Amino acid sequence: MIMASNHRLIVIPPPLQGHMTPMLQLATILYSKGFSITVVHTKFNSPDPTNHPDFTFVPFHDGLPDSYTVSSKNFIHISSHLNTNCVTPLKEVLVRIIKEEKISCVIYDGLMHFIDSVARELNLPTILFRTTCATNYLSYHWLSLLQRNGYLPLQDSSMEMVEGLEPLRFKDLPIFNLGESATDIMVKQVTESLSVKPSLGVIFNTIEFLESSSLQKLRKLYKVGVFSIGPLHMCMASSETQEKNNNCSTSLMKEDYSCITWLNEQEPCSVLYVSLGSIASWEEKELIEVAYGLTNSEQRFLWVIRPETIESIPEEVKSATRKKGRIVTWAPQREVLAHRAVGGFWSHCGWNSTLESMCFGVPMMCQPCFGDQRVNARLVSNVWKVGIECSEMRIKRDEVEGAVRRMMVSEEGKLMREKAGLMKDKIKISVRDNDALNGIVHAIVVSSSNSSAQHNNHNSS
Ligand code: UDP
Repeated sequence: MIMASNHRLIVIPPPLQGHMTPMLQLATILYSKGFSITVVHTKFNSPDPTNHPDFTFVPFHDGLPDSYTVSSKNFIHISSHLNTNCVTPLKEVLVRIIKEEKISCVIYDGLMHFIDSVARELNLPTILFRTTCATNYLSYHWLSLLQRNGYLPLQDSSMEMVEGLEPLRFKDLPIFNLGESATDIMVKQVTESLSVKPSLGVIFNTIEFLESSSLQKLRKLYKVGVFSIGPLHMCMASSETQEKNNNCSTSLMKEDYSCITWLNEQEPCSVLYVSLGSIASWEEKELIEVAYGLTNSEQRFLWVIRPETIESIPEEVKSATRKKGRIVTWAPQREVLAHRAVGGFWSHCGWNSTLESMCFGVPMMCQPCFGDQRVNARLVSNVWKVGIECSEMRIKRDEVEGAVRRMMVSEEGKLMREKAGLMKDKIKISVRDNDALNGIVHAIVVSSSNSSAQHNNHNSS
């Protein structure tokens, strides 16, 4: 086993929950291999250093107001803002760190692609970390082709397959239904993010057997190693730091653990967990329909409604849901999905939620809202077959009631739970056999030793 003491890594997570969590998990795993970790982060939505006492935290100025709330309407603009406005503040921080200590590698998230050129300018080795699934990333490579052939912005809900990306249909692509101006911004960002040239490798939080074909295609596109190291939360649990890190929350919001006490009182597989993650949300009218649909289904449910949305729910709806359900503003999601009472997950299919659900053997009602969620939902329902596609479902109480019953009490739902259980077992085996971590450690340590040797030769000549 390769260990890497005396090597410092810089990890730079974007200030979004779905990106922050996997980056901190990756850092925790690399720490277990002996690396020292410095987390360089924005002041906006910053991680809580007390959850990671072994890491050093260094903020940089980002120009985003503290009061800003991330939503589906502004997250593309947030990433665009970071890529445009953070070059100098980040460079200043990195220069300060380099003066004190040698940096073996900078690991950055592809959402903040500007870091690639900043690191190159400072002569720092880099690894690109992609927090979406590999198939989503592969689809980015198709976007410029679609643009050239005049397909963008994609307008109708085309059910046609995209040649070369089957079984993805046009409607599953991450830019579908974005509108002209957001499509332009996203295509520009995707093009810029595809132009990065990490010097040591690309890491995906995915599982080889789930996405072997997409990973193979990506490996042909890169000159450096492409490592599939997921699911990170499971690799973290199996790493040597397990005991130490059991409590290292990566959450940007306070988790409400009272829902676990409530789950303890419920029958096995009787509760539907409902969450759209940290960005997507239903509008007020839809929330009311969801509330009545859930209540009318007569099934138990645990529903996450984030603080900025919960105020818009009328008291009448809250009291209707109390009979069968429980609402929290933020849940300890992995503990929830691991709970024996949970039998289904109505999810927006964010990549972290998708992986977490599959790892705990919980089948999904897939209702993607935007971006990579559509790709994930298609894979879950059509390829891995551990979820029901609900992307065409209208948010009307009778349709919600029907879909919830289909998931929780129909024969189809029962079969889906069995398949999800088998998937959970397969994932466990794949984590046990995964050697990607050693590949990553090796790439960093070898590059660092080579650069030290070159430095010494240079000094002695
Ligand atoms: N999450 C959580 N509590 C909640 C809802 C979500 O801890 O009440 C976590 C979830 O476990 C996942 C992350 O937030 O790790 C959401 O990431 P994902 O990629 O699923 O979706 P995003 O928020 O990026 O759309």
